[in-house]
Amino acid sequence: MSKTYAHGHNARRPLADRFWEKVRRSDGCWEWTGALDHKEYGIIGGSPEKQAHRCAWALYYGAVPEGKLVLHRCDNRKCVRPDHLFLGVAQDNTDDMILKGRNATGDRHWTRLPQHRATVLRVVASMHR
Ligand SMILES: [Zn+2]
Repeated sequence: MSKTYAHGHNARRPLADRFWEKVRRSDGCWEWTGALDHKEYGIIGGSPEKQAHRCAWALYYGAVPEGKLVLHRCDNRKCVRPDHLFLGVAQDNTDDMILKGRNATGDRHWTRLPQHRATVLRVVASMHR
């Protein structure tokens, strides 16, 4: 062990050690006891994944795939328990998929709304005047 280690300068300690010592484990959620960001997600310094729950995922399962989010099954943002986490996509992408998919051809598509149809009919009528 180096002097730096003995004197509590943590930078050289393995990330996993520095990470898990800040986690309060229980039968339910494992809560992050370290720093939190403005959205109440845990944050950890000196990690490729700044958010604690993302870091937990990376430590436990391996790197988070590009473009994926690490989400909570338990809705507890401080929770870093690996089996409470799952991979998902950004809400934007989900909305985009819904727009392009199911609703694009369904009855709720904006072109099928009565209000829109009225506008179209008015435009068509004016063209044929
Ligand atoms: Zn949890």
